[in-house]
Amino acid sequence: MDPQTVFCPNSACPARGLVGKGNIGVHSQKDRRYKCYECNKSFAETKGSPFYRLRTAKDLVVIVVTLLAYGCPVQAIVMAFSLDERTVLSWQRRCGKQCQDVHEHLVEQPRDLGQVQADEIRAKIQGGILWMAMAIQVEARLWLGGVLSAHRDTSLMLALVAKVRACALCRPLLFCVDGCQTYIQAIRRVFREPIRTGRSARPRLRPWDDVLIAQFVKHYARKRVVAVTRRVVQGTWAQIEALLQQTQGGGVINTAYTERLNATFRSRIAALVRRGRALARQMPTLHNAMYLVGTVYNFCTYHESLRVPLYLPYGKRRWLRRTPAIVAGITDHLWTVEELLSFRVPPPPWRPPKRRGRPSKAMRALVAQWCT
Ligand SMILES: [Zn+2]
Repeated sequence: MDPQTVFCPNSACPARGLVGKGNIGVHSQKDRRYKCYECNKSFAETKGSPFYRLRTAKDLVVIVVTLLAYGCPVQAIVMAFSLDERTVLSWQRRCGKQCQDVHEHLVEQPRDLGQVQADEIRAKIQGGILWMAMAIQVEARLWLGGVLSAHRDTSLMLALVAKVRACALCRPLLFCVDGCQTYIQAIRRVFREPIRTGRSARPRLRPWDDVLIAQFVKHYARKRVVAVTRRVVQGTWAQIEALLQQTQGGGVINTAYTERLNATFRSRIAALVRRGRALARQMPTLHNAMYLVGTVYNFCTYHESLRVPLYLPYGKRRWLRRTPAIVAGITDHLWTVEELLSFRVPPPPWRPPKRRGRPSKAMRALVAQWCT
């Protein structure tokens, strides 16, 4: 147990979420509990992770969740490990939530995205269908998140584009999408910045510079692609060619990267397999499954096309394998599923409560100690 790597999870504590500040000590080696000397509360080592208060051994949970993340049917796990189906689904729910938190904490940070491709998957659930829209950063093959909706409408596209915006820096950005017009409206609506003038009225919104939109439309006849159209909706061909060169080493406007990602998701979520019998009962199940698969894909799987050659002495060559998260600069190594599930997402930093008048001496001391 190393108190230097742990933060206080207590939401009322001024030291919450801060690591290495000397406020944490070991409370009990036997029970594996820490203590925060600022708020005088003790907490379990697993507090805030999916393993908190589970009665099953951590190893078994990690094995089961790894199997789920690679598309193993729940019934196979139930039979192999003699578990109850509800237990397996509750672990999937906990781990899906954990993966979503990790994703929002580490991936949804502003970065230079270059090229983004977006697409939707049609999924069957009990009593209807569901649309799962997802986006990928092409250069790092990084999954940027996904949203679910019963309809393929403006609100689905707006939610997806808002997810992309949460990951974007105001740099040249190319969107490659299919022929759906709703994407274009959603991108134009989301990628705007308010111009603050100090007046009390609603500020005017200015669109971001250098947001380029390209469409890749497939034309079908008898369920086969017979022709494709490449269209520039926003920006110039020269700008788009420069970004394609930077992010995929040249080539043409396409949606191949997002379609390959869809294939990965289809193979790893039983409910997305075409003509399959396994239906997800409800939207939250699919939501958790999506975050589990997506985060394991980003952090725990080497991507074949991201490897780079290492030239060693005497003309030898080795391949350096990389995950999307390594290429995006989020981490420097391949995460194990256990590492992903044990990662504790810190709460947002503490802010002093808003009160009228001059803050008390004690409050000023707390602010000086923990808010700098
Ligand atoms: Zn505390």
